[in-house]
Amino acid sequence: MQTYKMFIDGKWEDAANGDTFETKNPFNGQTWAAIPKGGREDAERAVEAAHRAFTSGPWPKLTASARGHLLRRLGDLIAEKAEHLATIEVTDNGKLINEMLFQLKYIPQWYYYFGGLADKIEGAVIPIDKADTFNFTRNEPLGVCVGITPWNSPLLLLAYKLAPALAAGNTFVAKPSEFTSASTLEFAKLVEQAGFPAGVFNVVTGFGADVGETLTTHKYVAKIAFTGSEGTGRKIGELAARNFKKVTLELGGKSPHIVFDDAEIDNAVNGVISGIFAATGQTCIAGSRLLVQRKIHDQFLEKIVNLAKTARMGDPLLTSTQVGPVTTPPQLEKILGYIDIAKGEGAECVLGGGRPDNAELSRGWFVEPTIFSGVRNDMRIAQEEVFGPVLAVIPFDSDEEAVHIANDTNYGLAAGFWTQDMRRILKVSAAIQAGTVWVNTYRVISYMSPLGGYKHSGIGRENGIASIQNYMQTKSVMIST
Ligand code: NAD
Repeated sequence: MQTYKMFIDGKWEDAANGDTFETKNPFNGQTWAAIPKGGREDAERAVEAAHRAFTSGPWPKLTASARGHLLRRLGDLIAEKAEHLATIEVTDNGKLINEMLFQLKYIPQWYYYFGGLADKIEGAVIPIDKADTFNFTRNEPLGVCVGITPWNSPLLLLAYKLAPALAAGNTFVAKPSEFTSASTLEFAKLVEQAGFPAGVFNVVTGFGADVGETLTTHKYVAKIAFTGSEGTGRKIGELAARNFKKVTLELGGKSPHIVFDDAEIDNAVNGVISGIFAATGQTCIAGSRLLVQRKIHDQFLEKIVNLAKTARMGDPLLTSTQVGPVTTPPQLEKILGYIDIAKGEGAECVLGGGRPDNAELSRGWFVEPTIFSGVRNDMRIAQEEVFGPVLAVIPFDSDEEAVHIANDTNYGLAAGFWTQDMRRILKVSAAIQAGTVWVNTYRVISYMSPLGGYKHSGIGRENGIASIQNYMQTKSVMIST
């Protein structure tokens, strides 16, 4: 079994009280690593180290270009280790090796992009309306930033936060999910190797209630960037507001996927299937509500059921596997619970609906790709985030009705629709309340394009040029001439 240490102030450390917790492989339920169970004391130590690194030492003296250079070197090291990091993530969260390789090979772009941006953030000279006064602005870093991440894409979601934060000159404390801490600790080795000064990047492993809340409330922390569930986001938002800490919250979704009757059907079938079943449904942007125009409803439903039926479940480390396990036993129970709720609500289960009947898979946390038809949008299966491979299919007649159903949810993270009509593309994309809208595609993500939620799906945007401002504050300097 592998044993990990935390990374605090440039040193590899056990938890102050020596405690550890086990991390298990979702494919076979076996414990494969021991992770330090950090607590309040460890979180405080990490924040203090980050504060020292921000206020003294070499980091604040580095030029923006030098910071950018370090970030680009880190990107190169991630690229070199992409396969190793992908394998660690698959072993920890059960996602498919193909998906994780694709993701890990793309992650360096965040460090290249924001590394390139570091020395291009300029202030302004303002011709103010006061005689004999010279006014200019400076963009300054915030200080210690905290990144709290969930278990589904640990290093990708860390990159959204860490790359702009360091480019802007902040220091950082990362707290990965207790279910998938190993890859962030492996990543810290690369930060060390890249040559960042001690204390600029720290990782504290442990649980939300102690490590997470200490980081969220510590007086030296200026900003919390969180990705996770709506409930935890609300708690963090409330705690942060008490001390006026800045927050970015990337939360859950119940994203609608709309298929109009003029769609290119085969493309739409593929888009809908990968939209819900990629990562076994455990993505915030999963297209978990499928709205199909009534004229093509039965034909479309038959096609997606037939395709989903052929998906090979199995070992996520095999490239031939198409559906892996879910990440944790509580998540498995939650998904099975929602399947029961949907049946109780009167939705018709037309595919899956339980754990697979297979001895090898019974060791891991597998649930079948599941499709419910005859869903009404007021059912819990259409309103609440399942975070699993469960699709709720809802018929509609007109464009207005489709948009009404799509928007009739507390969430607003993403949406997709399929049509060949350009007027409809313009009208529907404007009417949908979601941070990202895909048309005739789904799930495209770029470091250059803003990502974030309307309504309960969050506050703020990650990615794109503007996101570096999440990690900066503006000072106006007035000089008497
Ligand atoms: P979660 O909210 O349970 O945990 C996320 C992180 O918060 C973990 O590191 C956890 O330890 C920490 N945490 C828990 N309680 C805390 C507290 N009181 N204070 C501080 N930190 C605390 O989420 P999860 O189950 O790990 O992840 C699934 C959720 O993440 C889903 O809702 C999904 O939609 C969301 N998600 C959103 C995005 C996005 O970009 N919007 C991306 C991926 C996942």
